[in-house]
Amino acid sequence: MFGYALREACQSFLLAARASPYHLLRLMFLNLLFGTGPAIVLYLQKIIIDEISLSTKLPSGGFLDWIGSHPLLWSSIIGFVIINLLLDSIETIAGFEASTFREIVLGKIKTRMYKKIAEFNDIALFENPELLNTVQLALNGIPRLSHLSFILGNLLIGFFSFVPVFLLSFSIAWWIPFVILITAIPSIYVQIRYEEESWGVERSQAGVVRRMNISEGVLTQGEYAKELRLFQLQSLFLDRWRRLFWNAFDEMYEVRRRGTGVILLWSVLSGLGVGAPFIYIVWATINGIYTLGDLALYAGIVFQARRSLYVLIGNIAVLHNAALGTMPIFQLLNLQASIQDISTPETNIEVGSGIAINDLSFSYPNSKRQALKDINLTIKPGETVAIVGKNGAGKTTLVKLICRLYDPQKGSINWDGKDIRSIELEALRRNIAVVMQDYARFPTTARENIGFGLLAKLDDDSAIMGAAEKSGMRSAFESLPDSLETPLTKQLENGIELSGGQWQRVALARVLIRHSQAKLLILDEPTAALDPTIEHEIYNLFREMARNKMAVFISHRLPLARTADKIIVIDEGEVVETGPHDELMATNGLYSQMFTLQASGYLREEANRSTSHVQTVR
Ligand code: ADP
Repeated sequence: MFGYALREACQSFLLAARASPYHLLRLMFLNLLFGTGPAIVLYLQKIIIDEISLSTKLPSGGFLDWIGSHPLLWSSIIGFVIINLLLDSIETIAGFEASTFREIVLGKIKTRMYKKIAEFNDIALFENPELLNTVQLALNGIPRLSHLSFILGNLLIGFFSFVPVFLLSFSIAWWIPFVILITAIPSIYVQIRYEEESWGVERSQAGVVRRMNISEGVLTQGEYAKELRLFQLQSLFLDRWRRLFWNAFDEMYEVRRRGTGVILLWSVLSGLGVGAPFIYIVWATINGIYTLGDLALYAGIVFQARRSLYVLIGNIAVLHNAALGTMPIFQLLNLQASIQDISTPETNIEVGSGIAINDLSFSYPNSKRQALKDINLTIKPGETVAIVGKNGAGKTTLVKLICRLYDPQKGSINWDGKDIRSIELEALRRNIAVVMQDYARFPTTARENIGFGLLAKLDDDSAIMGAAEKSGMRSAFESLPDSLETPLTKQLENGIELSGGQWQRVALARVLIRHSQAKLLILDEPTAALDPTIEHEIYNLFREMARNKMAVFISHRLPLARTADKIIVIDEGEVVETGPHDELMATNGLYSQMFTLQASGYLREEANRSTSHVQTVR
């Protein structure tokens, strides 16, 4: 474990050093000065004491003459004062350098980590608890990595102040340095063991920390605020968080308490290692072997050696902990996505012969159950395909596979005869415009919420308003307090909150603006929150847009699905029926049953709606 941590420590050091080599060099230099200072001070102190004890009386010529006759004394006094002053200022400058270095390391490593997460090709990272634990531990590891600069600084101070006094201690008696070192060994061992143990607990608590974060999010984020209050769930989530926190605390506290006790015990024992050399020095001074200056110097050396060794040991243990804590950063940075991208010279894809899915089977990572089984289907150029089926049948999964958010374990999806795994991801995704069932509500401006659909049009007001108009959002956008620059979140100043239906229209507008570059349009339950008037308009619009392209939509409203060129019925992960509405109705299968059942309810609903009130489009 220690060898592994040593490798990690070197890796962490290199990572931190590469982030800002000049700051690190300056820091090391300042620490070198700061570390060797105490040994020089001790030596000057010895000279001063010796000089004073040799001539205690002022000569007849007065103070100045006395000073003049003792150049070694006064130069030592001046040196003593200057070095003490310097040590103070070096400490301040080193503190400044260390904070700067820490911030730079923090910024650069966070950038690398966020880049890695942001550019991770598949979404398995966000659904796998083990990987999420690694991300959590890596995030915890960042302050440790930047703390490394302080640890390194202290380690250097410990090292540079230990080495000179350690060497000087040989001049007292050959056995003294060995006594100091040997009595310190148990202390090093127990401290490192303690750090390993506390890291073990921290690692095992990563899942708990994430669960705590989830409760924290529910308590503090606006998206849960309403239901949290209406269902009076505040104390439930608060208690949940509190219980997790205090359980984690108790577990760590126990390790810390035990660790501190053992460390204290051993450091007291190893402290005795200083006792023997000190008694020897006092004995030798009484017997006239050493001068009083020697007594001050040697006692100082022994205590300084012990103190700096203590700092050194403490920091080695903390370094070990930091190295263990930064391991997940490397694990995260080295993580391989299960979806492999390839780079091809050909970045443009055409509708061509359309999409063909052959013998496709898929299970989600960490799930034994097959979400899709032996799927075979085609989407021809210009065709609008409706996917229908019960909840959990596998409709959204199929859409996610077409977008290559996952790769199937068996079979393939071919676009114009080419396996989509052989198409550059960027090119594939550029050609798809999709509204997911759980579409994003970006906490940014109105402009960006639509413009994100096609970044090239982000500053094109007419394109954005055009998309807003088609999705029925124009009038709502025109009345925004800060027009398109209004944030669509109450979390930002002057932000506004949209209704569920309005959000869905914004998500649709993102696809409408992207439509100019995309060849495949996918809508997963795109109009569930919309009123029937706009719903029909949207579907007509999409059928229009699908001309010369391809369109897939998932809808539970079968009267809408009926208008598609082809309906694909999925049940328990398998395609059970395929064909146009009339054909499927004639077979009297699942679709026909679902349609008949829904049509009666739908018609009743429509009738009720028209008699109760007039729907207004918000
Ligand atoms: P539908 O869109 O037809 O309602 P889905 O395609 O979303 O159904 O889900 C199909 C099956 O896959 C369901 O049993 C669901 O629980 C499971 N499933 C969906 N998403 C995931 C996921 N990210 N990880 C594991 N299982 C999933």
